[in-house]
Amino acid sequence: MTSMTLPYREPLVPREAGPRQIPEPPRRGEPGGPPCGICGGETTPAVWSDDNWTLHPPVGGSLPGAVWVASRMHVDSFSDLPDPLQADFGRMAARVERAILSLGDVARVHLYRWGDGGAHFHVWFLPRPLGMVEASGMMLPLWEDALPNVGDDELAAAAERVAARM
Ligand SMILES: [Zn+2]
Repeated sequence: MTSMTLPYREPLVPREAGPRQIPEPPRRGEPGGPPCGICGGETTPAVWSDDNWTLHPPVGGSLPGAVWVASRMHVDSFSDLPDPLQADFGRMAARVERAILSLGDVARVHLYRWGDGGAHFHVWFLPRPLGMVEASGMMLPLWEDALPNVGDDELAAAAERVAARM
């Protein structure tokens, strides 16, 4: 049994959903939207890469050891990746998971693939700190947002340690 807890004091009040926006606003990197920041090299530089993937540190985050991985190819989602890359994703994700766990003080590595920000395939790997059971499951990205940020240099250094273990 998990004991997920929101990083906010109660009572929180449920709100009703707003009106739907149809058509939805274009995302970065899709027709009609702003240019793709990943293809444009506007992200943090990769600290590890191979023929198919690049691994990057975040900026403005609170969990050292968090990284995101993008495909070299500009495609949107899993179903747009060519078959060999779909298969290679599992192999790569296992290596990233193992590398983050080897940092120590990490209970589990969560993968988040939202897809709502940019239209270039990328997946987040977030370490849940050992013993921080209230941040289990879907609470981890909320806690990541609510906790004080650490320096971008610290996030980059932790990502370098992940890269060294790949
Ligand atoms: Zn792109």
